[in-house]
Amino acid sequence: MRILLVNDDGVYSAGLQTLRATLERMPGAEVYVVAPDRQRSASGHAITLHKPLYIEEVDIPGAESPVYAVNGTPADCTKIGMLAVLPGPADLVISGINRGGNLGLDVLYSGTVSAAIEGVILGVPAIAVSLAAWENPDYRPAAAFTAQLVELVMDRGLPPGVLLNVNVPPVPDGAVAGVAVTRLSRRSYRDRFERRVDPRGRTYYWLAGDPVEDPQPADTDVGAVRAGLISITPLRLNLADEGVIHQLRPWQDWLQERLTAARSRRS
Ligand code: MN
Repeated sequence: MRILLVNDDGVYSAGLQTLRATLERMPGAEVYVVAPDRQRSASGHAITLHKPLYIEEVDIPGAESPVYAVNGTPADCTKIGMLAVLPGPADLVISGINRGGNLGLDVLYSGTVSAAIEGVILGVPAIAVSLAAWENPDYRPAAAFTAQLVELVMDRGLPPGVLLNVNVPPVPDGAVAGVAVTRLSRRSYRDRFERRVDPRGRTYYWLAGDPVEDPQPADTDVGAVRAGLISITPLRLNLADEGVIHQLRPWQDWLQERLTAARSRRS
């Protein structure tokens, strides 16, 4: 079982290294870590096209697996890991463990989730794991849970084009209330820009704001994590809305008529 382990918090982050140590202990696991050389959270699915990427082996005390740092984005790390680092095809891509949850619309901004998506794009099952804790995070329970989920995914497989987005609640080991397979919530943020003046007298803006903590259904990721449950949300890459495609057929016809009319006026 060849695992590519990636993240967006950077190669030295505790969440990544805790998960690496846990996965290394799984029988038959061959782990490769390829991670950004610095903090790259909220970089979404950006990839690097206009500058070279460098892969540098990093010495992590106690690590049994090779660990590489890349001067690129989380999605770059998955791509370059699969295509230039691993000695053969990966069986699984795991991204994390992220510091902080990736819930609701976070998945669109998250480097953690995007690195896992890149695995699915390359045809490999993938799991993104986040710990919904900021203060003194203990990654060990989330890492142990991930190892169990890995066994299950390896045994049963995942449908093509689907990844699992896992969020672990911020509770002490043993206090997790359970596991829930969930929908994505529609939690939003109260975004605001702090407007300040720099020492040279120029105005600058800094994005701030907090999630709107309104009630969320119990069967969503936010609802589950609030209830102390580990949330597993299957995410599908195909963003096209099949229902609305049908609804928009009249638009297609209307626009087609205009195109045809314009063409006949020109000729
Ligand atoms: Mn992060």
